Amino acid sequence: MEAMDILIFGAHPDDAEIGMGATIFKHTQAGRKVAVCDLTYAEMSSNGTVEIRQQEAKAASEILGLAVRSNLGLPDRGLFLEREAIERITLEIRKYRPRLVFAPYWQDRHPDHVMCSRLVEEAVFNAKLRNFRPDVEPVTVQQLYFYFINDVYEPQVATDVSEVYEAKRQALRAYASQFTQTGRDIVATPLNQGYLERVEARDYLLGQRFFIRYAEGFASKLPQRIELF
Ligand SMILES: [Zn+2]
Repeated sequence: MEAMDILIFGAHPDDAEIGMGATIFKHTQAGRKVAVCDLTYAEMSSNGTVEIRQQEAKAASEILGLAVRSNLGLPDRGLFLEREAIERITLEIRKYRPRLVFAPYWQDRHPDHVMCSRLVEEAVFNAKLRNFRPDVEPVTVQQLYFYFINDVYEPQVATDVSEVYEAKRQALRAYASQFTQTGRDIVATPLNQGYLERVEARDYLLGQRFFIRYAEGFASKLPQRIELF
């Protein structure tokens, strides 16, 4: 398996796009290898079926130029801090050997996003331990960043995505079953009540702080590592 520059985990297909779709596109445009791993098939979603959502995820992945999109098939609303889930995620990190890993921010109104955040943090730690699953080569991830899904907290890092924002819009629109109210038997959820406009407004407002059009924000528990001199 070819090594990835970036590996992004989400609880559900569409999490990565909401948080950092434009940043993903910016990286793939620059020729970097980006993979997304969804922990679940979002089978508890009120709208759309697993099959439809997988088609939507495939379309969004193509728009963003992902090298790989995988799904661990863990249970939706059944993510818990337990050894098997941590091990599966650890092995995914060791498979793709990324320099950077991204996970949902550690606070969010959806408990699965919170749990995904926690599980990935544990797995990044385990990935470097040579005595954890000694049959698989360990990987030291340079930095773990957290992206925002539903709630907004103060980011420590922001990427200028002004030039590539349209790709994020298109990738999110690919998830029509989640964000639109067209079709039969649709129930109203926070996602199809102006959600995409709110995501765009969030990214627009963050851009304002740098006098640019759009920015995506990230948090880290480690200081940002840069070369000042
Ligand atoms: Zn989600």
